[in-house]
Amino acid sequence: MASIFSGRRLRWLLLVLLSGFAAGSRAQALIESAETVPATNQWLGPGDRLQVRLKGRPGQRVTFLKGLPMTELPPALTKGQRGIYQGTYVVRPGDTLQNRPILFQVLRNDTVALASAFSRSKVRFLSPDAPQLALTKGQLAYLNYGLGEDRLGGAKLGYLDSAVVLHLTGMVGTQYRVRLADNQVAWVPQDVLRLLPAGGFVPTSLTGSWSVTGDSLYDNVLVPLEARLPYRSQLLTNPTRLVVDVFGATSNTNWITQRDGLRELGDVYYEQPQPDVFRVVLPLRHAQAWGYRIDYRGTTLRIRVKRPPAKLRLRGLTIGLDAGHGGTNVGATSAKGSQEKVLTLAIAQKLKQELEKAGARVLMTRETDVTVENGSRVLLMRQLNPDLLLSIHVNSSGSAAVQGTSTYYRYVAYRPLALAIYNAVRQTGLKGFGNVGSFNFNLNGATEYPNALVETAFVSNAEDEKRLIDPAFQQQLAERIREGVAEFLKGTQARGPKGWLLHQAAEN
Ligand SMILES: [Zn+2]
Repeated sequence: MASIFSGRRLRWLLLVLLSGFAAGSRAQALIESAETVPATNQWLGPGDRLQVRLKGRPGQRVTFLKGLPMTELPPALTKGQRGIYQGTYVVRPGDTLQNRPILFQVLRNDTVALASAFSRSKVRFLSPDAPQLALTKGQLAYLNYGLGEDRLGGAKLGYLDSAVVLHLTGMVGTQYRVRLADNQVAWVPQDVLRLLPAGGFVPTSLTGSWSVTGDSLYDNVLVPLEARLPYRSQLLTNPTRLVVDVFGATSNTNWITQRDGLRELGDVYYEQPQPDVFRVVLPLRHAQAWGYRIDYRGTTLRIRVKRPPAKLRLRGLTIGLDAGHGGTNVGATSAKGSQEKVLTLAIAQKLKQELEKAGARVLMTRETDVTVENGSRVLLMRQLNPDLLLSIHVNSSGSAAVQGTSTYYRYVAYRPLALAIYNAVRQTGLKGFGNVGSFNFNLNGATEYPNALVETAFVSNAEDEKRLIDPAFQQQLAERIREGVAEFLKGTQARGPKGWLLHQAAEN
């Protein structure tokens, strides 16, 4: 099979020109459209399917690539349309194709091409013998679960540090497929990667013996590796623990040194759930997790786990506060012209005052009507390192009847914060729209601190809007959100008495 893909570009061009002459004006009618499915540039590896579709006349003999037959679909499968052809080719080891369009032909007597066309998208067959590697770049590289997209982007599996080595085994459109481990893949956007020349070694590593230490701010886990391997983390509850999978790593960890100064990490250990997945398991001492961050120092994986604030009360707490949208990013606009960016800033400023009155320190992502990208807000907060973050938005729906308040969180460990605020804001008399989990919003994606998004009310609903634009109601909202945070802190203390005592003991 390999040989048929080795034709030079010149030959392909010639073929098109010749068939164009031969078919003359009939070409258009014989092939109305011909494209790969999905109709986007692709890299495929052995075992992947190249799928194609052609629309032409019924009863033709149609081929793709070089002579592979396409099947005409019965009208029952095409809502009555005739002349729709499909074809599939499963890529085999040794196949080569270098970013080429796919050739389609309509044949007569199996030999004479009556018409031909090329797909607009280009296809590359990857050689497993020359692995395609890449390095993550920038501070916000991330992995996606799949190719899905909506207004929030694809569902994110998590962020990665820069210069992490990834083994790419495919591409669809603007995302590469990454092989993490046996039977585990993820997808990564092109713009957070730098491609390396094909043919590098697929990165693997033995793990060194690791250590756990406490400094003045964090409990730190240091796992020595031979390369910056990809990882994913999950913050789990009941019991509260952080689980980090390192892909391509195999244990040669013969001990875990636990030094003085640990205040949050409990009985740490590791597992090797499959030969190429090394799992770091970090039980926490408190029921409520306060965040963590993962990065590399050289090729040593570093996991920094935050401790609870010294006192679980607003006084002395540092709170990140994000007024959604701003500047050229107006957000939702009501029929009457109320703008989300104006309302979020008004509510956030009142909330800032409320929190400061209670003794908290408030760090805002914007204090005026300026444009700030969500990525910049995430990086700013990562740097400012607040104890928790609140993002203030105003909701909107295509249906004017939809109304009410709602809160959003991404990680289940941060649900109590969102829930406490939800319950408090409902005291204003706003209807309840819900407390929403697994929310794939940039500012909910931060693992560094508990965070919640508050969609105060629907600007698209007349009753909600009337309240949202009323400064007295904005003030009420600010007070209730403040109360919600206070309730969360109280609840946190109540949920972890044993952990809390441990924490106090460590401090004394
Ligand atoms: Zn918004």
